[in-house]
Amino acid sequence: MGYVVRAMEREPIVFVGTSDLSAHFRGKSFPVADLPSRLRRGVGLAPANMFLSSFGPIQVNPLGAQGEVVLLPDPSTRVLVPFEDGPAENFFLGDIRTLEGAPWNFCPRHVLRRAVERLHGETGLRILASFEQEFTYSGVAEHPQQPYELDAYRRQGLFGETLLAAMRQAGVIPDAFISEYGPCQFEVTSQPAFGLRAADDAVITRELAQAVAFRLGERVSFAPIHDPNQVGSGTHIHWSFVDRDGQAVLYDETRRWGLSTIGCSFVAGVLHHLPALCAITAASVASYYRLRPNRWAPVKADAGHLNRGAAVRIAPLFDRDPNESARQFNIEFRVADATANPYLALAVLIQAGLDGVRNARQIDAAPVRPLPTSLIEALTLLEDSHDAAEWLGAELLSAYLLFKRAEAHELRNVDEKEICRRYSEVY
Ligand code: GLU
Ligand code: MG
Repeated sequence: MGYVVRAMEREPIVFVGTSDLSAHFRGKSFPVADLPSRLRRGVGLAPANMFLSSFGPIQVNPLGAQGEVVLLPDPSTRVLVPFEDGPAENFFLGDIRTLEGAPWNFCPRHVLRRAVERLHGETGLRILASFEQEFTYSGVAEHPQQPYELDAYRRQGLFGETLLAAMRQAGVIPDAFISEYGPCQFEVTSQPAFGLRAADDAVITRELAQAVAFRLGERVSFAPIHDPNQVGSGTHIHWSFVDRDGQAVLYDETRRWGLSTIGCSFVAGVLHHLPALCAITAASVASYYRLRPNRWAPVKADAGHLNRGAAVRIAPLFDRDPNESARQFNIEFRVADATANPYLALAVLIQAGLDGVRNARQIDAAPVRPLPTSLIEALTLLEDSHDAAEWLGAELLSAYLLFKRAEAHELRNVDEKEICRRYSEVY
């Protein structure tokens, strides 16, 4: 007869993490009892922690084993969601600082904060954004595809309602949960939030989706595509702006697509830089199997009104009240997926758009270009972009290129199906 070991007490543990260069949420945990001091001094990290690959092991590490940085929990991001069985989801998102307390050049939240502040400094605009995340859920039985059917929604059982409750409890306001087009595919969206908080919400939502699925004995996968011949899962980024008086400024009913002058230049900036930005927003080898024709996923650096095949979709107006219209009107960026770090993706989007505003770029000024068809091609375009070096910082950009090229290199002799399978396992 074996021993039955039953701990009589549990000591709560809390985790602090950040979405790293491969968009995995990684960090460290400590006793909740130490929270007050940890909120002041953070937890130590090896700089190399940022270079853990998509698949786990350190692939390349331009920083070596040297050094130390600090992951500091941001008190405004606490997630504390109890579950009936087992420990609560108890975590913070953090900023990475140097030992001297300065923002670290590789900290994704810092890169986004810089972009948000620059936009505000130059234009007075604040960005409101929301990430619409598609994924597959293992808790629905293999079944012929049921795009958008109530029955497909029904078969996922308790997952959706539990996820929405967990999000709300964590301060992320749910906006939609739907059964999507593909087999076992669903989508969750939260309400728009300002700047940094929008990307935080995306990270929290993804973690809570994993957490709920785990407690139900299941798994979700946000991987860009599970089978090269199927539809993929995108992470669409919606955005709008408010000015210094809190007025929405994207909408102008007198103009084409209802898009204000500043909205137009912003979109034109995004399109101008888009082929290069793919290396950040479609950050994996499998990302490019999703960006193929006839999948409601973009293949060109184009904008379209109500067009789900376009890279940038000008969203519809549902409200007839003019004030409501202006508030609800938004633009959707469709070239992102969950292998992209949400902070970096939103940061480059803002910087590219701002460049469009600064240079009064026009949407139809240049012929529409195709998107890159592989990660390698996208990385070359990113390397050639002088602007990207400025937006990300030269140090981060060169490390990112090295890091992502190593990922592509590792998969060079693997076939597409197997590549999809490997990403599905880890995202
Ligand atoms: N699943 C599609 C994608 O990969 C998008 C479908 C939709 O428009 O919601 O982006
Ligand atoms: Mg969708």
